Amino acid sequence: MTKENCKICNNTSLEEFLTFGKMPVSNAFLIKEDLDKDEFYYNMAVGFCGECHMVQLIETVPYNKYIVPDDEGKTNYAFFSSTSNFMEEHFDDLAHEVENRFLLNNQRVLEIGSNDGIMLKAFTNREKVLGIEPSANVAEIAQKQGIESKVDFFSEGLAERIIKEKGKFRAVLSTNVTLNIMDLHDFMKGIYKIIDDKGVFITEDPYLPSILDNNSYDQIYDEHIWLFSLSSLSNLYNMHNMEIFDAEKQDVHGGSMRVFSCKKGAYDKTPRLQSYLEIERETKIDSIDPYLDFTRNVEINRQKLSALVRGLKNQGKKLVGYAAAAKGTIVQNYSNLGPDVLDYISDSTPFKQGLYTPGKHIPIVSPDVFHKDKEVNYAVLFAWNHAKEIMAKEKEFLKRGGKFIVHHPEPRILE
Ligand SMILES: [Zn+2]
Repeated sequence: MTKENCKICNNTSLEEFLTFGKMPVSNAFLIKEDLDKDEFYYNMAVGFCGECHMVQLIETVPYNKYIVPDDEGKTNYAFFSSTSNFMEEHFDDLAHEVENRFLLNNQRVLEIGSNDGIMLKAFTNREKVLGIEPSANVAEIAQKQGIESKVDFFSEGLAERIIKEKGKFRAVLSTNVTLNIMDLHDFMKGIYKIIDDKGVFITEDPYLPSILDNNSYDQIYDEHIWLFSLSSLSNLYNMHNMEIFDAEKQDVHGGSMRVFSCKKGAYDKTPRLQSYLEIERETKIDSIDPYLDFTRNVEINRQKLSALVRGLKNQGKKLVGYAAAAKGTIVQNYSNLGPDVLDYISDSTPFKQGLYTPGKHIPIVSPDVFHKDKEVNYAVLFAWNHAKEIMAKEKEFLKRGGKFIVHHPEPRILE
């Protein structure tokens, strides 16, 4: 049991319910020369707070372990949002919803974690949008498209500086960002200050009940410090005089929740929010019970995946990995899948090619290598959240009898 206090409410009621053991940093891909050097490992364990209900990593990894400045002091990050067409459409829809529902008089929009501008470029008036992005290499791409982007981390201090320069904002958006923020209280103070009285703060993050339902334990890694339910988020917002007034489930990343919040009383609560909260109550998301079930399921999953992959290998089949995703690092290390079973991992991100995966050191190759390799029988799909797109892209592999393996909800060969 942990002696750590809850990082949100500081109570001593944090209960550890799942431990993965020592895990490497999920995006810390290695060059060949570093393979025999010591890697950074930390104890990846997850806890549930009985008071504020926040599910959280017990030990956190400092940002500088995964957003590393280069020789010129520029920060670089491994993920370019616009490489996915499906995500581009998804963010397009969100931008239009925000515009039609909240920006009736062309008010300003701020995006935290604006990446390469994938969402802000969908807004009609680029004069009114501002992005904040800590990674210089991706922010530059947005800037080149005329989207003003500050290379920085959002904080209360940054919010104050922006307000002085530009005033307040009607809408603040952040997708797949809030779950990465270590000091959520400082972050929320900044949000409260920077939105105007009718301002909305809209987040989208993987939804904890979906993770429990799908057994997608690989959504838990060093960058994902928090796993949110509407219940735990409500408690957090309440501490900052804000409240959730609407929510909408999204079919991305295996189930995300789009959460609309505002200063208390600014908007009426929607019936669909009430119905999600009702489901959370029924599934006892505010008690330790569903998390203990999850722990049992995750352990069974580990054993089954390892048995499936190793069984095929022992039959003489050739297996590789598909996509060197951060999530995959967790699956490989937790289920003990190394280069002895997966010959390589195919990934379309140019700068990952030629590197090795954290912990297990599986070589990463370009999709060309995978496409020319007619001996591959099975590819373990680590980017299962892009499965539809990938299936469409890899028709040739499937046509010649190649098959994909996914690890959740149950490890299985996709037929
Ligand atoms: Zn708490």
